Amino acid sequence: MTVTAKRLFIFLLPVLLLLVSCTSQSPGAERQAPQAVMGVLDLTDWTIDRPIALDGEWAFYWHKLYDPEQLARELPDAYAKVPSAWNASADFERYGYATYSLIVKHDGQASDMELYIPSISTAYTIWVNGERVWDNGQAGTNEKSMDPHKEKRVLTVSSPAHELRLVVQVSNYMHPRSGITESMELGPVGTLSEEQLKQAAYDMFLTGGLCLIGLYHLGLFLMRRSDAAPLFFAVYCLVISLRSFLTGETVVYRFLPGVPWEAWVRAEYLCLVISVISFTLFLRRVYPKEMSDRIISVFIAFSVVYGGVIAVSKLRHFMFLLPYFQIVIVVAISYALFVFVLATIRRREGAAISVGGAFLLTLSVFNDVLYNQGLIHTGYMVPIGLLIFIISQSFILGMSYSKSFASSEDLAAKLRQLNSSLEEKVKERTLELEEANRWLEKQTLIDGLTGIANRTHFNAVFKRMMDAGQERSISLLVMDIDHFKCYNDTYGHLAGDECLKQVAGAIHNVAERSHGLAARYGGEEFIMIAEAGPEEAAELAEEVVSSIRALGIPHAASGAAPFVTLSCGVVSYTSRREAPASLAALYELADQALYRAKQQGRNGYVYEPAPLEQ
Ligand code: GH3
Ligand code: MG
Ligand code: MG
Repeated sequence: MTVTAKRLFIFLLPVLLLLVSCTSQSPGAERQAPQAVMGVLDLTDWTIDRPIALDGEWAFYWHKLYDPEQLARELPDAYAKVPSAWNASADFERYGYATYSLIVKHDGQASDMELYIPSISTAYTIWVNGERVWDNGQAGTNEKSMDPHKEKRVLTVSSPAHELRLVVQVSNYMHPRSGITESMELGPVGTLSEEQLKQAAYDMFLTGGLCLIGLYHLGLFLMRRSDAAPLFFAVYCLVISLRSFLTGETVVYRFLPGVPWEAWVRAEYLCLVISVISFTLFLRRVYPKEMSDRIISVFIAFSVVYGGVIAVSKLRHFMFLLPYFQIVIVVAISYALFVFVLATIRRREGAAISVGGAFLLTLSVFNDVLYNQGLIHTGYMVPIGLLIFIISQSFILGMSYSKSFASSEDLAAKLRQLNSSLEEKVKERTLELEEANRWLEKQTLIDGLTGIANRTHFNAVFKRMMDAGQERSISLLVMDIDHFKCYNDTYGHLAGDECLKQVAGAIHNVAERSHGLAARYGGEEFIMIAEAGPEEAAELAEEVVSSIRALGIPHAASGAAPFVTLSCGVVSYTSRREAPASLAALYELADQALYRAKQQGRNGYVYEPAPLEQ
C-alpha cells in the first residue's frame, strides 16, 4: 500500500462521515414541544406541521387491560412518564401488564395525521378514538397468555374532532424494561412514513454494505485459508450486518413474518456475542504482538458463557444479564483502543488508520449520547461510525494483502529471471558436456600415440561388417614393422614413436583410399579391413608395403633394407549369413601369412587364400 493510498483513505474518512451525516435522522423528535400533563397533551396552541413526540405523563392503569370504554369509567392508578420503563418507578414490578392512555388536544386543522409507534416491550394493542387500530402480538395477563412481537409502525389516524384519544394495552414478561420506553410521535400525513422509509433505507444500506464487506472477506478467506484474519473479520461484519437488520426499523419482521419474535431476539443477542468473539480473534491476528492471549481468553470465556446462556435459558434471564455483558463489551472496546494506540506507537502497518476509525466511532457514540439527551439535533450515528470503522479495518486487511501480493509478484519476477538464466546455463553446460562426451568417445576409439583407430574400434567395425548380412568379400591385412626392436635400440624410443606415427599415417591413407579401416593392433603391429576380393587385397598389401618403403625412414640396423619396412599377411573371406567368421580365426590365418612373409625375408606380403570359404 502506497503512502498516497493511505493519505487518500485518511482524507476520505471525514468526507464519508460528512456525507452520511446528511442522511436521514431517526423519526424526528421535537423536544421543544409541550409535554403531556396528567394524561393530557394540549397542542391547541401548537401547529402540527412536523412530527411531535407524545412525551410526558400518560394515564396509567396497573394490572388492568382496559379497552377505551372500560377505561372511561375509572380513574387511573398513576401517571406514568413516557418514554420510560414503568419499572423505573419503584411502585411497579418489572413484569406485568398495564393500560396507558393519553388525550391529545389539537386545533383540529388536520383531520388525518400519522402516528409513529416505536417498539413497545413486548406486546400491545392500541386504540385510537375508540377504534382498535393495531395489534403488536397479543397482550396478556401472564407469560403464557401473551404473545410477544416487535414491529415499529406508522399508522394513519383520523381525528375529526379536536381530540385524539390513545389507549395502549401493554404486557411484558420478558424484557427487562417494560412499557413505552421510546417516544410515540404524531405528525402530518406523509412526514412520519417518509422518515420511516428513509430510516429503513438507511438501515438497509448499512446492512447491505456490512453484509457485502463480510461476504467479500469470506471469499478472500476461502481463496487463501492459511490466513484466518479475513474469516474472523467476515464473521464480524456478517453478524453486525444481521444485528443492524434486526434492531433497526424492524424491516426484517415484514420480510419473514412467520419467524417467532423469540427466535429473532436470541439471534440479535447471539450476534452481539459473536461480534465480540470474532473481532477479538481478528485483532489478535492483525496485532499478535500487541495483544495478550490471557486477556483475549477472558473476553472469549465471558462471551462463550453468555452465548451459552442465550442459547438455552429463558428470554427474560439472558435479557436481564445484558447490562453485565455490556460491561465486558466496554472493557473489550477499551482494550482494543489500547491495542490500536500501542500498535501506532510501534509503527505497525495501518495502525494509524485503526486509531482514526476507532476515533470516529467513539465520536459517533458521543454524538448519539448527546442526541439522545436532546442536546444536539444530528441524528443517530453509531451505525455509520461502525461502518467507517469496519471499512478502515477492511482497508488494513487490503493493505496487508496488496503488500504480500506485491512481494509475491517481485519474487515471481526474480524467479523468472533466475529460471531463464538457469536455462541458458543448462544449455551451455549441456553443450560442454556433449563436447566432452564426444571427446571421451573419440579417446576410447583412437590410439593415443598414432591417432588412428585402436583395437576396440577395429573390433567393433569388424563385427558390424560381419553382421551386415549381405554376401560380400572382406580382406584382412595384418602388418608388423621389421626389426623394430633394433630401430628403438639404434635411434631411441622417442624416434621409435615418431616412426610408429609415420607408418600408422601411411597405412591409414591406404585404408581410406580403399574405404577400409586401419588400426594399431598393438606395439608395432597394425591391422586393416576392407571390402575387397583376393586380387584387390593383394594390391592393397603391395600398396601398403611400398608406401612404407616410400617413407624412406632410415633404419641402419635393419637386416631387410636400409630404411624402415614392414611385412604383411593377407587373408580374404566371403561373408555368409549362415557361417559368420570370427575375427580370431581370420586373424590367425593372416598372422600365419605374416609369419611366412617374415620368413621370406620381410619387406613384403604373403597372401593366404581363404580356406574358410565353405
Ligand atoms: P621382427 O622383424 O621379427 O618383427 O623383429 P622386431 O624387433 O620388430 O620384433 P620384436 O617383437 O622383437 O620387437 C618389437 C619391438 O617393438 C619391441 C618394443 O621395444 C617395440 N615397441 C613396441 N611398442 C612400442 C612403442 O609404442 N614405441 C616404441 N618406440 N617401441 C615400441
Ligand atoms: Mg611384433
Ligand atoms: Mg616387428
